[in-house]
Amino acid sequence: MIYAANFKTNHTRHSTREYLTKLQLQLFKKNPTDKVYIFPPLTALDDYETNELTIGTQNAYPVKNGAFTGEIGLEQLAEFKINTILIGHSERRDILGESQENVAKKFAFFKEQGFEIIYCIGESLEVREQGIDAVMEHLISQFEGIDTNYDNFVVAYEPIWAIGTGRTASVEEITETHNALKKVVNKPLLYGGSVKGANIAEISAIENVDGVLVGGASLKTDTFLELVLH
Ligand code: PEP
Repeated sequence: MIYAANFKTNHTRHSTREYLTKLQLQLFKKNPTDKVYIFPPLTALDDYETNELTIGTQNAYPVKNGAFTGEIGLEQLAEFKINTILIGHSERRDILGESQENVAKKFAFFKEQGFEIIYCIGESLEVREQGIDAVMEHLISQFEGIDTNYDNFVVAYEPIWAIGTGRTASVEEITETHNALKKVVNKPLLYGGSVKGANIAEISAIENVDGVLVGGASLKTDTFLELVLH
């Protein structure tokens, strides 16, 4: 299983260091084949001890360096030896206006650099209410311009209506969607959307769920450990 923590715009460098110190003390208890990723905010990237986990970036601009105000590029990531990136999160697509074309450009750039890419896709409630065929059509459209054969590629299926809402997709919805997605892209497939201690056992038991991407429940070490060590 993969356990990925997306801090979004939460935590500082100071609190991230405290979090990681506390987490590392417990991670020896995890299943040795499990992988843990932490995506702190960009200002909290630092020189951390990372024996048991991988630190990734929530975002970066597809460039080595240059005139892109407010963005960071490869040079800034290299300073902290970051080579894992989240691309296509629904908050970046919907709130920050990243088009599929922008997402695909970012993917191509970081693929070229050999980054491990955790690539997010997900449908709105409106699409979900139209049924699985509409959901799959939408999800497949989010692979436009993406090399799904890339080796260092993990997909995260995150229904937008389940992100940060406390409403998790049902076991049947996750099963049906993950089974259909695995036929399209045979890569590790994470589920994301209000994963927490109370539902990790049933979600992680679903056959084609290879891990979870977690927002809210990852913000405290204890609640994230509840997932990793369940
Ligand atoms: C996310 O945004 O990736 C996410 C899954 O958030 P939450 O766990 O809070 O629903």
